[in-house]
Amino acid sequence: MVPALGLGTWGMGERGSSAGDEAAALRLGLDLGMSLIDTAEMYGDGGAEEVVGQAVKGRRDEVLIVSKVYPHNAGRKKMAAACERSLKRLGTDCIDLYLLHWRENVPLLETVEGFDALRQAGKIRRWGVSNFDVADMEELWRLPGGTACAANQVLYNLMRRGIETGLAPWCRELHVPIMAYSPIEQGKLLAKPALKEIAATHNATPAQVALAWLLRHDGVIVIPKAFHQNHVRENCGALDLELTAGDIAALDRDFPRPRGKRRLEML
Ligand code: NAP
Repeated sequence: MVPALGLGTWGMGERGSSAGDEAAALRLGLDLGMSLIDTAEMYGDGGAEEVVGQAVKGRRDEVLIVSKVYPHNAGRKKMAAACERSLKRLGTDCIDLYLLHWRENVPLLETVEGFDALRQAGKIRRWGVSNFDVADMEELWRLPGGTACAANQVLYNLMRRGIETGLAPWCRELHVPIMAYSPIEQGKLLAKPALKEIAATHNATPAQVALAWLLRHDGVIVIPKAFHQNHVRENCGALDLELTAGDIAALDRDFPRPRGKRRLEML
């Protein structure tokens, strides 16, 4: 079982950022039950993983940690070293879910073997991918051990519904959870009139509408990032917002599902 609503960390742990306040925002999220934290070796050049380490100190058992390896570190040897560095920054001996951040030149089989070696060594519990489109997933599924992939993290929100025309049904059929990143399009969804109107009828906020729309989907884990504590609280409130059939129809009118197959978008 994994929580459907977690916490993103992109932008945390950067130079000049306030790591203590960022860790406090994550701890508040954990207090509220958003007990999955998504991070990556890329974020803040390791700084975000250090913030996560600070946030989970003394409460590691409560939280599922997801981190990501750079594609250029996704060969067997480099991956083991990258994972060790991440573990150190996170202050833990095991990453719950370790993802390939996106695909580049390292052969996929080598990455799968690297993940499997880490799993056997107890350094990671599971592994998965990010920014993989249908063709990448199909290729992965043909590789020995490829079907052990535990998740695909992709861009998905009301403004980015492309995955509904191919990748989302594929993942549903093969029971691969989707992690929806940038669920409020980095804030750009908040000013949209349809979200404001629906929010007003529920005494909710546009962010809650955007998150609740994603949370309705089975097999989708939603990972908004919030530094401000009022945002963390607000995002958690999305779990209590039930959109009506009328709301969904209005959102479909303003943010229609694209027609025909679309290439996977990424940020
Ligand atoms: P996001 O979660 O859609 O948006 C984050 C922005 O929205 C921040 O500026 C945040 O402000 C603001 N915000 C959050 N909650 C709000 C609320 N209730 N009201 C108003 N503003 C609110 O974008 P994201 O950070 O790109 O995506 C989320 C996470 O997904 C990332 O942090 C990262 O962990 C992951 N991600 C993964 C990939 C990948 O390639 N795998 C790519 C992008 C993102 P404050 O921070 O100031 O509170």
